[in-house]
Amino acid sequence: MEKEAEKFEIILGVKFESLTFDEALSRLRRFLDTEEHNVCFTPNPEMLMSAWKDAEFRDILNKADLILPDGIGIIMASFFYRRKITRRVGGCDIVQELFKTAEKPLRVYFLGAAPGVCALAKENVEKKYRNISVVGFNDGYFDYEKEKLIIAEIQSLKPDMLLVGIGFPKQEKWIARHKNELPVRLSIGVGGTLDVLAGAVKRAPKIFRSVGAEWLYRLISQPSRYKRMSRLPVFLIMAAWEGVRSRFKKGER
Ligand code: UDP
Repeated sequence: MEKEAEKFEIILGVKFESLTFDEALSRLRRFLDTEEHNVCFTPNPEMLMSAWKDAEFRDILNKADLILPDGIGIIMASFFYRRKITRRVGGCDIVQELFKTAEKPLRVYFLGAAPGVCALAKENVEKKYRNISVVGFNDGYFDYEKEKLIIAEIQSLKPDMLLVGIGFPKQEKWIARHKNELPVRLSIGVGGTLDVLAGAVKRAPKIFRSVGAEWLYRLISQPSRYKRMSRLPVFLIMAAWEGVRSRFKKGER
């Protein structure tokens, strides 16, 4: 059996676990059977770069119950470390698979995206997945007063699962700040997944996803993302530097 330490890889200070998609899925299912509030985050290269400079964000990521590598950039970065993370497990994919394979009724709350998006996402999800009920939702543009109402609503609805898509690091910090007051079994920081569930943003065709080029499709279909994506080479240089340095420090080659 693989030794425990062999299953982990710390990339730019964030600890990832090497899991297959199915292993990650069954971990999430298990979380839904517990009484605790479990948290899952799905960092991509941009998030790691931000966490590298923001110790609070990094700490929040590392305290999650499950961290999944969302993006081919993380797999490429792992190459400079101990090459433990070889499979991408995207947040959007795993949420949809969790919905698709739910064997018993699952009550979900959506928090995030622009006004109107969650209502569409609810309609689509309930039509497509027979065991999923979206018991409540709110858009991701709220002030302090509204936030208190949202928390009270989640407390009274007691959903099994909470999806928070208000952009990083806001969504991770929001979940960490409110974790103890929310009666939920599983919270996931989902970025733009609510837009995808609503049909407002299209996923890349399978061919792009299967070769790890979803980023290329997003760049073509949303050229405004150019500035964000241009940071990927910088991320890889940082990972190369940090990864090789950490291996030399441990006396590895
Ligand atoms: N968003 C939000 N509130 C905010 C900022 C962003 O609800 O204050 C939403 C935004 O509308 C979008 C999501 O957060 O639905 C972030 O999407 P993005 O594509 O940036 O995330 P990614 O999937 O790339 O991490």
